[in-house]
Amino acid sequence: MPDGLFRSPGSLLSEIFGFDAFRPGQEEIVDAVIAGRDTLAIMPTGGGKSLCYQLPALCREGVTVVISPLIALMRDQVRAMRAVGVEAGALTSGNTEEETEEVFRAIDEGRLKLLYMAPERLAASGTRMLMQRLGVGLIAVDEAHCVSQWGHDFRPDYLRIGALRSDLGVPVAAFTATADAETRAEIVTRLFGGGQPDTFLRGFDRPNIHLAFQPKDNPRRQILSFAAARKGQSGIVYCGTRAKTEQLADALRKDGHEAVSYHGGMDAEDRRMVETRFSREDGLIVVATVAFGMGVDKPDIRWVAHADLPKSIEAYYQEIGRAGRDGGPAETMTLYGQDDIRLRRAQIDESAAPPERKDADHGRLNALLGLAEALGCRRQVLLGYFGEESDPCGHCDQCQVPPEIIDGTVAVQKVLSAALRTGESFGAGHLIDILTGSETEKVKIRGHDRLPTFGCGREFSKTQWQGLIRQMMGRDLLRPDTERHGALYMTEAARPVLKGEVRVDLRRDAMARAERRPAAKE
Ligand code: ADP
Ligand code: ZN
Repeated sequence: MPDGLFRSPGSLLSEIFGFDAFRPGQEEIVDAVIAGRDTLAIMPTGGGKSLCYQLPALCREGVTVVISPLIALMRDQVRAMRAVGVEAGALTSGNTEEETEEVFRAIDEGRLKLLYMAPERLAASGTRMLMQRLGVGLIAVDEAHCVSQWGHDFRPDYLRIGALRSDLGVPVAAFTATADAETRAEIVTRLFGGGQPDTFLRGFDRPNIHLAFQPKDNPRRQILSFAAARKGQSGIVYCGTRAKTEQLADALRKDGHEAVSYHGGMDAEDRRMVETRFSREDGLIVVATVAFGMGVDKPDIRWVAHADLPKSIEAYYQEIGRAGRDGGPAETMTLYGQDDIRLRRAQIDESAAPPERKDADHGRLNALLGLAEALGCRRQVLLGYFGEESDPCGHCDQCQVPPEIIDGTVAVQKVLSAALRTGESFGAGHLIDILTGSETEKVKIRGHDRLPTFGCGREFSKTQWQGLIRQMMGRDLLRPDTERHGALYMTEAARPVLKGEVRVDLRRDAMARAERRPAAKE
């Protein structure tokens, strides 16, 4: 059993669950549950409710009993928890005898941290005694709206939870995606005996934060000009490496800003000094790695810029979310480029994580790239990822200036076919040489100048093809194989494109810069 009592929620989040940031709302809920307060949290489906009781379960004494109506979900969660070394078990009608025995053994040996139960179990004789014996520290109620007699999902046995709570005298943490006021009131009456739970019902939107992305062109100049337009305001620049924090802080100072760097390699005292200065001074820029932030509680940060692409969409949301806590206007700008994508993919592939976690990490990176190269409103895409529906916001770069869209299907097909005809064994540079008909040594040695695709892409410049391939990587049509020096291979998602079954819209700006060339010379 991982001994959570001595670890912070943040370190458990990464070490046990493998996540690099809390999702919107999670941290506050986790804090309240750990503190032993009755809580009612309303989060959209897919928002990440399970973590809000699983993580506290590791920090609190005793067993956390999870009441859930969905047997399949309970089994999934038990499997997932065990896979990361957390003792969890379920008592459901779907159990085999051995499974049930194993659960009881874990209880008797005092190993169990999480016990999932279907509500029906509460009615069974012996459950009350079992509960007394367990040493329950917390009751978590999933799908709490099932307690509502007027709802579609009413489960009569949920009505027993209230009695269980007063019997055991432990806090209850209830979760649901159903937010209407009536259901909420009913949950409060029936689960909390009418007491006042800490209630979390907050949309994830931070409307005062302006969202913007830019393809990396000249990152140093892009950051300097963003900062120059906001002179005298407090801001954070996030960088991917320690060295870069120092270089950029230097460049900002030369440009007349108050700027300091911050990263995990600095000694504790220096870091504390930066934190103190930042919170007390107006108009200081901190150029930092992600090490900066956990303890930052400055309400009037006016802007956050990313000189490198964050790790995941969750990390992005958390980092930009440090701006404008006071509700005042705040701006953000995130740079992204092909080297970022390559680096992040390599970090995931080379990590020691199990394969499923790597897949999930690639998925979260894809979500962020999808946001970077979104065709419409960014806020809509961002909130949509967290399960919240919304209209175009009018307060992001793309609502203000919609990107120009082009039909990129044929161009994408050309890249895919160049990759396929060369055995999916080469990186972007070589594929572009083939497409643009460049007779490099490598092209000639491999005989790639005799391929039908050789020179079939002269309508675009090399830079434009770079942009196009980046967009393809962003949409996960092509992936670099880190075991084979970043050789680009085609994903399943690309198959229908190659067959001409789906059209690919692309952003012209991401391909722009160089002028469109006149058609092939020869
Ligand atoms: P809900 O119960 O709210 O519908 P889940 O608890 O099943 O949602 O979580 C939905 C997905 O989000 C899961 O795949 C989970 O692994 C993932 N998830 C939860 N919290 C985080 C986080 N902080 N960072 C990244 N992924 C997360
Ligand atoms: Zn918008």
